Amino acid sequence: MSTDSPHPDALSYDTQAVQVGIPRGNTLGVGIPIHQIAAFQFETLQDGATEFVTNATYSYARLQNPTVQALEERLTALEGGTATVALSSGQAATFTAILSVCRAGDHVVATSSLFGGSAGLLNNILPLMGITSTIVPNTPEAVQAAMQPGTRLVWAETIGNPAADIADIGAYARIAHEHGALLGIDNTWGGVGFLCRPLTHGADIVTHSLTKWAGGHGTVLGGSVTVGTHHDLSRNAIYTDGDPSLLTTRGPAALAWRQRWFGAHQLGMTLSAHSAFLIAQGLETLSLRLTRESQTALDLAQYLSAHDAVTGVAYPGLPASPHHALAQQYLHGGYGAVLTFEVPDPAPFLAALRVIRMAPNLGDTRTLVVHPWTTTHSRMPEPARRAAGVTPHTIRMSVGVEDASDLKRDLDQALQAGRAHATPHEAALI
Ligand SMILES: *Cc1c(COP(=O)(O)O)cnc(C)c1O
Repeated sequence: MSTDSPHPDALSYDTQAVQVGIPRGNTLGVGIPIHQIAAFQFETLQDGATEFVTNATYSYARLQNPTVQALEERLTALEGGTATVALSSGQAATFTAILSVCRAGDHVVATSSLFGGSAGLLNNILPLMGITSTIVPNTPEAVQAAMQPGTRLVWAETIGNPAADIADIGAYARIAHEHGALLGIDNTWGGVGFLCRPLTHGADIVTHSLTKWAGGHGTVLGGSVTVGTHHDLSRNAIYTDGDPSLLTTRGPAALAWRQRWFGAHQLGMTLSAHSAFLIAQGLETLSLRLTRESQTALDLAQYLSAHDAVTGVAYPGLPASPHHALAQQYLHGGYGAVLTFEVPDPAPFLAALRVIRMAPNLGDTRTLVVHPWTTTHSRMPEPARRAAGVTPHTIRMSVGVEDASDLKRDLDQALQAGRAHATPHEAALI
């Protein structure tokens, strides 16, 4: 099946989101079909032998499946990249991205406002393989100071979790490239190239938890790794060692090849066809959802900033935010759906919510809150939690597509309930 799109480069984001991955032709459906199939046929011995060398089409669905491939083409177009491998979760994508450029003895510099699972990989899993890391504040000066001769990768998130700080992607790219390293950006909060396209600012690798805004309805897990056009691997021994070297045999496709080889072929963190279908469908309305969610998030950030039962609000769309200037530089179409705020006594506030639900997810159509101190960030040592912008009073809210005035009313009545219960003693126990 050919999934070539007619003129992907000539089309805008919104058009690509609904068109890429769907071939035209008589008898073809208007949409991406689910190929619920594990293996693909060979007509001749030669066909099988050729496919096992080239992996050009399909043999076995751990390697490639037409539904997953259609999703990958759509993701590549929306991020402005050259190739994508879709995987079973965002966590699988981060692991694959790091392993694609690091091996034993290599080093990663990552910025501190990290998704908890990424910090876990860097602190607990990668050291088992001899890959070390330094986690630094989210500034070019701190990243520059942490670079070592063995640093192969700089890692940051477009919008930090949950402090809502913005990575200076252009500056990080320059620092990484000066040291012969690559820049990887977890662009989950950047909404698959809609709010931010890190590859256009110099990043080499972009990852996603497709579980969030891409799937968009809180119904599916997935992840992806997309590579850009230019990436210099001439100082990375993974690609230059050996005769012939990976760079010689695979050329400019070497990085994308290794990501598929590791993530899907070898480690088997493959995305299922059904999940790929759901995520491809989610992408079709991502820009509509994220536009609406960003507008509501800004509205709620302003509302909460003025509320006397709220002691602080972090949202990059607020002109008072210390990250507003970088947000204006790197984000377009909105400032994102996530805002963070501080309340004196979170327990009664959270228990009083009637519309907004408490659950550890992001990018759902429904507004979700979480108490990071006791959930998403609870395994981090206390100083690291505070460095990431998390206190016992922090609430993280991922805004959905509900009516903004319903959300305001719900927040207000819960904040009143929280105030009624708050005593200095209870607040201290949190
Ligand atoms: C959720 C998330 C991940 C991990 O993705 P999963 O799909 O849960 O494995 C990684 N990075 C960010 C920024 C996330 O929000």
